[in-house]
This record gives sequence, structure tokens and C-alpha cells, in this order.
Amino acid sequence: MRKMEKIEKIEDLPGVGPALADKLMEGGYRDLMSVAAAAPGELKDAAGVGEATAKKIIGAAQEALDMGYETGIDVMKRREQIGRLTTGSTDLDKLLGGGIESQSITEFYGKFAAGKTQITHQLSVNVQLPKERGGLEGKALYIDTEGTFRPERIVQMARSLGLDEEEVLRNIKVGRAYNSDHQMLLAEKAENIVREDNIRLVIVDSLMGLFRAEYVGRGTLADRQQKLNRHLATLGKIASMYNLPVVVTNQVMAQPGILFGDPTEPIGGHILGHKSTFRIYLRKGKGEKRVAKLVDSPCLPEGECVFTITEDGIRD
Ligand code: ADP
Ligand code: MG
Repeated sequence: MRKMEKIEKIEDLPGVGPALADKLMEGGYRDLMSVAAAAPGELKDAAGVGEATAKKIIGAAQEALDMGYETGIDVMKRREQIGRLTTGSTDLDKLLGGGIESQSITEFYGKFAAGKTQITHQLSVNVQLPKERGGLEGKALYIDTEGTFRPERIVQMARSLGLDEEEVLRNIKVGRAYNSDHQMLLAEKAENIVREDNIRLVIVDSLMGLFRAEYVGRGTLADRQQKLNRHLATLGKIASMYNLPVVVTNQVMAQPGILFGDPTEPIGGHILGHKSTFRIYLRKGKGEKRVAKLVDSPCLPEGECVFTITEDGIRD
């Protein structure tokens, strides 16, 4: 039997020498956790090794981190750490079981002007509130793929909550993504920023816009889904490793039949369905009213509520 040495770094893994460790680092695998959570196919490409070796490396990292089964008590303890972030609407919070959960990906989807971007703005402000006011006492990281982040809107929302608008703006890190690769890179970089800074919320508005635009008519749906899958894995990992909520938006097509299937289905289809733990469908009501429908969640009943978008932000 191999002598058990304590494995703490990537270089300590059996079969990983300094050269391979460097390659892994370059490929974005900076610690045991990122190796342990990797898919063999990905790691294989990044490290330039065979599939079997990749599997062995991942297995060793998982073992080192003791990532096997755990008891229900362990799961419960971890779930007790879950933080909840207010949306600004008590009804919407209630629908979500007390607010947006950490350790999860929450997806808001709906047509143009349904309020997706307004919600992500509001959450970037609210996350900075003290816990008693429904915040998570931290900063926000905002990946903007459509160029719709508006500091002026943040200022309005911050003012209405009596917060220092300049500080609120300073506490939102905005990454403008220009193509899907850039978007993915920003998410990967987010991991480092989250580790070093007190980021308590990660947003991607919108998740699919760039992917959709780039892959239109190229007939490479499988490619797109694979990339999207990787992107979501990165986001999911951040949510669970750092106990924070990840919120993504997703557009549904206004005109039926333009792309794939059901027009009221969010772009991204099934893959996204599996990865986002909470999905909320938004639609316009009269005037400033909006209707939110919880579509599926692991332990909450389906339901609907009404909220408003006012000058002050998201309200009941
Ligand atoms: P999308 O779902 O496309 O991201 P948005 O979140 O951008 O939609 O919502 C846009 C809507 O939000 C506008 O049509 C308007 O009704 C409302 N809105 C935007 N800014 C304000 C504001 N300052 N005051 C009141 N309502 C606003
Ligand atoms: Mg938007």
C-alpha cells in the first residue's frame, strides 16, 4: 500500500509532478477543490493527459478532500448556513421561501421588460444591507452581458434605502462581457475575487444572450450546451463553495418558433433547468405591476405573487 502522506496542494496528488501542476494552474485549477469538482473531459484537455489519468487525479483530489458520502446531519448543518437575501418585495421573498438563497443558482426568466435587470440591480444594492434588513453584508459581482447595468439606477435604489450611494456603487464590481468566452472567463475570474473580497452575491445578466447570438444558425447546439454547462458548473461551484447566491437572468423569446421549441421555455432548455435550483418566471402586469411565478424548486410549492417596479426599486 502506498504510504499516506497528507495531500494539501495540487502537486501533492499522486501522479502530478511540478510540470503537470503548472499546466493545471494555467488551466484554472488552482486548488484541490477545483480539481475535485472538475469533469474528467475538461481536466484532460487542460492538463494534456489521458482520460484515465484525469479520472485518477480527480479521484485523488476528492479523496483528499473527503468528498464521499456524508450524513443527513452534515447536509443539514450545511443548509443551516444558508443565507437569504431580500428582493425588496415581501411577497416575492415569501414566494422564494424567505428570499434568494445562498448555495443556489436562482434564475429569473421572462420576456423583454419583465423586470429581470431591475431585480438584479436591486439585489446588488440589497446584498449590502445588514442582515436585520434582509442583506448579506457584502458586495456584489455583476457580469453584464447586455450592457444594461446602470449606475444611475443603483443610485436611486440606494438612496431610497438610505444608503451611501457612492459606497454602494463602489461595492458592486461590474464585468462587461462582450462574447461568451469572455463571459465564461469573467465567471472563472470571479472565483478569485470572491475568495479575496467580501463578495456575497454573483449575478449574470443575462446568462444566454451572448451564447444565443453567437450560435444562431451555426448548428452547433451541442457545443453551445457544453460550454453553457461548464459556465454553470463554475457558477454553481462558487455558490456552494462560498455560500452565496448566484442569480442569473434568461430571456424567453417574444415570438414563438424563432429558435427552439416552446416560446415560454427559457433559452437554454433542460440544462439550465437542472442547474438552477430556483426558477422564477416573470411577466408584465398592468403598469408597474409584475407577476412572478415560482416554476420549480426542490422544496417549495409552486405559486405566484405580484410585485411592482417603482422609482425606488422593487417593492410589493
Ligand atoms: P428585462 O426583463 O428586459 O431585463 P428590465 O428589468 O430592464 O427588463 O425592466 C424594464 C422595466 O423596468 C421598464 O419597462 C420599466 O417599467 C421599469 N423601470 C426601469 N427603470 C425604472 C425607474 N427608474 N422607475 C420605475 N420603473 C422603472
Ligand atoms: Mg435586462
